[in-house]
Amino acid sequence: MKLKKSRYKRTCKECKSTINKGDLYGQKTIALGSKKDGQNETYDGFAVTVHYMRIPVDVCKTCCEVKSCK
Ligand SMILES: [Zn+2]
Repeated sequence: MKLKKSRYKRTCKECKSTINKGDLYGQKTIALGSKKDGQNETYDGFAVTVHYMRIPVDVCKTCCEVKSCK
């Protein structure tokens, strides 16, 4: 996976650590709504009615190295 330089402060979705401006980070795609279609799910405090959906999330360099994120 390609690491990018962060242009602003963000949070790693894996370990919840802070990715500071200028740090390297990666993005991986996670699946939402793998359960029943139309079921409500909460993501980052937003309640959403999901149909199967894939969204990109930020992960820090460490998590990228430890886990095999694509
Ligand atoms: Zn992390």
